[in-house]
Amino acid sequence: MDSSENGYGFSTRAIHAGEHTDPTTRAHNTPIYQTSTYAFDSLEQKEAVLNGETGWLYTRGGNPTTSAFEAKIAELEGAEAAVAGASGMAVIMAALRSLARTGDHIVASDSIYYWANIYMNEEAPLDQIGVTRVDMADLDAVRAAIQPNTKVLYTEFLSNPGIKIVDIPALARIAREHDIIMIVDNTFTSPYLFRPLEHGAHLSLHSATKYICGHGDALAGVISGDKALIDPILRQIEVLGSCISPFNSWLLLRGIKTIELRMERHCDNALQLARFLENQPEVVRVNYAGLESHPGHAIAKRLMGGRYGGMLSFEVEGGAEAGNRLANELKLCAHAVSLGDVSTLVWPFGEELVRVSVGCENPQDIIGDFEQAFEATKAQAV
Ligand SMILES: *Cc1c(COP(=O)(O)O)cnc(C)c1O
Repeated sequence: MDSSENGYGFSTRAIHAGEHTDPTTRAHNTPIYQTSTYAFDSLEQKEAVLNGETGWLYTRGGNPTTSAFEAKIAELEGAEAAVAGASGMAVIMAALRSLARTGDHIVASDSIYYWANIYMNEEAPLDQIGVTRVDMADLDAVRAAIQPNTKVLYTEFLSNPGIKIVDIPALARIAREHDIIMIVDNTFTSPYLFRPLEHGAHLSLHSATKYICGHGDALAGVISGDKALIDPILRQIEVLGSCISPFNSWLLLRGIKTIELRMERHCDNALQLARFLENQPEVVRVNYAGLESHPGHAIAKRLMGGRYGGMLSFEVEGGAEAGNRLANELKLCAHAVSLGDVSTLVWPFGEELVRVSVGCENPQDIIGDFEQAFEATKAQAV
């Protein structure tokens, strides 16, 4: 699971990479550099900063707390560079704007995050950017969708909310054959379970709001790849003004230190809940990458080393209404959007899927809560 070039394991790097004792105070933890600007002592110093050689100029374009977070993520993703933004959508939009403009074309998965979907369907056409949506599990369909002006192949690895699984190495080969930049939204797996750049993708992005933060208390995004791709994304973040706040960078530095511990628990809990749900008479289908019944299980097993993440979804008899009633009966788990939190979050989607972001609580308590909710909804039906 670890891919360490310096010999340190994943948790060690999650805790230490990018951080060092503060040189002026010897503070052991990275401070929150809550400043908008930076003052110069000399013209030489100013010139070095303006030339991009060292230091910071203005927090929209960079901040020491944020730089520590970006360096840590680059190390964990196995990337040359990373840049953070105000949210997952902020980095998605900055990345797409850096790569595809008027007259260009994007091949995007037909199963992606709600607001990324809105961009592809509604906003990109307004900017005369062509978008072809494909089922990325169908490699021939992906090849057929590529046009001479295609600039970007955009997909999630485990998709939201259907937990569809795609073969990232195979897609990356297609992208590279056609000189197209492949972007993977890696939010559902976290860099602990999967690192797209190791499998040929050019850019790996996260809604850091989710597993990287881990505690549901900050919105943020981060994207990693070669410096030549990351620098233009930072430029877009500066133009759009969608920078992250130093305080949020600090919350992320704090949250990500425990990512291995949390992900292991998310994985254990999700597998137990998936097996429990599979045995419920009211449940028609469970989508979890760790279940042998999942059509993408073999790919997930090959790429994720036997761990399958904390996200699952299931179909309940009676469709969307039954899903809503079930979510409403939960007492411990929250009926809420978002994911990757230490608390279990449950969200029914219109299309009769109930999505569960399985938290880090004790597994018997999560399962017990679902058990009582199924009982309560059954009692209502009688
Ligand atoms: C939440 C999410 C996003 C968007 O991230 P924000 O931080 O909410 O802007 C993008 N992709 C996926 C898979 C997500 O779950």
